[in-house]
Amino acid sequence: MVRHLFLFVLTNNFCSYQSSIPDSSPPKFLPGGRGPIYAISNAPFGILLVMPLPIDHLIHSRRKTVALIIQRDGTLMVRAPLRMSEAHIREFVQDHAEWIREKQAQAKASPPPSKKHYVNGETFLYLGREYPLTIVAPQRSALTFSANKFHLTNSKIPKARQVFIRWYKTQALAVISERVAFHANQNKFTWRKIRITSARTRWGSCSTNGTLSFTWRLVLAPPEVIDYVVVHELTHTQIRNHSPIFWRRVAEIIPEFKQHVSWLKKNGRFLTLGEE
Ligand SMILES: [Zn+2]
Repeated sequence: MVRHLFLFVLTNNFCSYQSSIPDSSPPKFLPGGRGPIYAISNAPFGILLVMPLPIDHLIHSRRKTVALIIQRDGTLMVRAPLRMSEAHIREFVQDHAEWIREKQAQAKASPPPSKKHYVNGETFLYLGREYPLTIVAPQRSALTFSANKFHLTNSKIPKARQVFIRWYKTQALAVISERVAFHANQNKFTWRKIRITSARTRWGSCSTNGTLSFTWRLVLAPPEVIDYVVVHELTHTQIRNHSPIFWRRVAEIIPEFKQHVSWLKKNGRFLTLGEE
């Protein structure tokens, strides 16, 4: 019996260990369709023909549940068990069409964070706080952070975005490595390597060989949220799924972890340098 799981993801997807699909694998697109499904709405005049909902990405993986995921751009991603037929998946999607349309409308209605302009006084996130930018005369590094301010060399303004990303990646590696070492030591976890990625759809992941990956965007979040993601991935080195046992283990280390999960759901989309 297949259990069904609903996910409404307006922000980044949280890491999904259960998926066996590597990051680089292209999403599958469903061919054709099985013809429109007609429904009669209560529109004042006539009959409204409701077309089948398109599935933008379908990913089969070794999982027991079906997940409907509305991404921040409003596209629908379906994650399904390996042996579930396309007909069954389409039927499931149609059965939940009303819910999907409602969430898609919400996703489209909330605008993405605006682009950065890299001007004096504009603020940038770091460890959950906003700090202002000052444009300065050439200095040794293109971007420095001191006295609660970012200092960007004026000649680097055209490349400011890359400069900021490079800086965030360096900080992410330093901050996250320290937190991984701390929690691994406290809780007897072992790991092999830490990788900083530019992932937009997952905060972290843990490979079977013990490599922990984290997106640089995480270093824009408050320290307690970073700690939660670090503990989440470290726990996967011992428990490779999201079972109740997994969550119990996470709760032993971070009892208030649920508030960090909701913080990420609500604020994750702002951990960025604007539209990309
Ligand atoms: Zn996980």
